[in-house]
Amino acid sequence: MRRLFVLALSLCCGALAADNPSSAETPLSTLPYTAGLEPRFMDRSVDPCVDFYAFSCGGWQKLNPIPSDQSFWSVYGKLQNEIGRHLWGLLQTAADPSAARSPVQARIGDYFAACMDEPRIEALGSKPLEPVLAALAKVKDRKSLAAWLAEQHLAATTGELLFGFGSEQDASDATQFIAAVYTGGLGLPDRDDYLDQDPRSKELREKYRAHVITLLQLLGDDPKSATSTAVLVMDIETALAWASLTRVERRDPYNVFHRMRVAELEKLAPSFDWKTYLVGQGVPRTEVLNVSQPKFVQALGAELKKRPLADWKRYLRWHLVNSQAQYLSRAFAAEDFAFNGKAIRGTEMQAPRWKRCVRWVNRDLGEALGQVFVEKNFSPELKRKTLEMVLLIENEMESDLHTLSWMSPQTRGRALEKLAAMANKIGYPDRWRDYSSIDLSRDDFHGNVARSVRFESARELARIGKPIDRGEWGMTPSTVNAEYNPTMNDMNFPAGILQPPLYDPKMDAAPNYGNTGVTIGHELTHGFDDEGRQFDARGNLEDWWTKEDAAEFRRRASCISDQYSSYIAVDDVHVNGKLTLGEDVADLGGLILAWKAATSNERLAPVDGLTPDQRFFVGNAQWACSNVRPETERLLARTNPHSPPRYRVNGLVVNMPEFSAAFGCKPGQPMTKPPDKICRVW
Ligand SMILES: [Zn+2]
Repeated sequence: MRRLFVLALSLCCGALAADNPSSAETPLSTLPYTAGLEPRFMDRSVDPCVDFYAFSCGGWQKLNPIPSDQSFWSVYGKLQNEIGRHLWGLLQTAADPSAARSPVQARIGDYFAACMDEPRIEALGSKPLEPVLAALAKVKDRKSLAAWLAEQHLAATTGELLFGFGSEQDASDATQFIAAVYTGGLGLPDRDDYLDQDPRSKELREKYRAHVITLLQLLGDDPKSATSTAVLVMDIETALAWASLTRVERRDPYNVFHRMRVAELEKLAPSFDWKTYLVGQGVPRTEVLNVSQPKFVQALGAELKKRPLADWKRYLRWHLVNSQAQYLSRAFAAEDFAFNGKAIRGTEMQAPRWKRCVRWVNRDLGEALGQVFVEKNFSPELKRKTLEMVLLIENEMESDLHTLSWMSPQTRGRALEKLAAMANKIGYPDRWRDYSSIDLSRDDFHGNVARSVRFESARELARIGKPIDRGEWGMTPSTVNAEYNPTMNDMNFPAGILQPPLYDPKMDAAPNYGNTGVTIGHELTHGFDDEGRQFDARGNLEDWWTKEDAAEFRRRASCISDQYSSYIAVDDVHVNGKLTLGEDVADLGGLILAWKAATSNERLAPVDGLTPDQRFFVGNAQWACSNVRPETERLLARTNPHSPPRYRVNGLVVNMPEFSAAFGCKPGQPMTKPPDKICRVW
């Protein structure tokens, strides 16, 4: 992914907005315009050859303090927030039953209206959980436990309750979907959070214990029982964390692909009733699945055997309330925020209700909301123009592959084949998902969420054993992000990311190539990064590299991971160059490809005192302008496969002699490297 930060949203303009985002923000009927390159976002007092990120983004950072309901504020986050306010406006219109509404508007409008009905949600307290908790209380043996779990995985939460279950493309035959079992069962963001012994990790675990106790007491438990459940939860989760792979290990696709028969899964964890579970999931005829981490399943089985059923019922009761607290009355939602928002990410204030509701509509009915969004914000002309840019960048990759010095003709042929097979998805799907079978009510928010989750689970499970649908989208159209999907071998650019300031049709070519052009090149390069290169043209996990070429790729990639590992993310925490390698390779590949495409354009006169070459680089840097809370910087350094924004700019330009030439940098300055130290993969 180009820029994966889940961007919860808020526009800020000064102290008032930052202190109280809910009162300052209003719904928008149209998206506001921000130019693709904005000189006032620069800080020209900084020497670009010393710190190019500060030169390009210093002004933005001063003008854009982090709003109180945000943990991370960036150009992407701000655009996503503006889109959120615009969707809010569209949803308000759609929620008015007296207006003439299309069937799609009525769906999203009713969901939104129910979600905004705070008095009703408040009056219900934790009542929406009662039937599920009563069913859990009745669980009396392993068989009924598996049945209860299957039901909850369908209608509420997969993943957090012991493990995850779903479907995915079969990495050994990417034309088909296969069932899959994933790791899960943890309440902290990462398995390392349970195992690391540094003071901050210990402190986070203490806060998690306190969170378990508070939330369970809200549910009516006495302090003694809540405290003992917290100890139990920590014990179980620590055991599961030990058995889970690290994020770096999970980046190797072979580490998370273990195709096996159901009988083999049963052998790994005989203490869990898999047959009953598969029946409960509605897929009793499943024969083969991907058990992504067999060691985890084995450990889960051992834990299940070791502990009495009563322990598991307490543990699952906790995770059920933990995953559902966000939907319940204020006290529950506030505690959910106090831990997941404030303690983990340092966010000061909970996002206002409308923002959470927009997010849930987008999650549950994303293509219906996207349809309304696209009608207003993504013209066929824009689609044509961005597709043109994609094709130009693909051409650059093709000629790069033809001339690459280090690759044998054999591997080169396969790489060209993969490039030719790569598909592009731009803006929105050709066929919209039909949500008309979901029973949505204006006065049943919790029911709407459960029925929508069930709809999505059923949709995913129905794919098992079937051929893939190449037209299916993973992201919703209003998303400000892009991705490359290795098993689909396609690039995805939702309409949300093709808006100013990221793609600005009013701007000259240079900054657009620096921004959206680099994003396109970035996604394209993901097909050939350390992870993507292990998949072939059809999306199968297959080694198509000669030994020598693979060794040369690794040598070149390690130049990049060594470079990024030397950077400090926050305090004493270094960037984990092995975790960020795929993104760093994609960033550099993207910049080089877009540069080649941009410089083949006609030469223009300088604008705002910047030559076209300089505008390309500043346009690129200005996508990354950000302010981040220290808690979030720490969290991201441990969990985010992307490097911190400043290194996604400064770490790139040092490997581009064209940058030094554009700004007249001298040897020895921080944004230059001696020629023999320059990293280059693609
Ligand atoms: Zn990426």
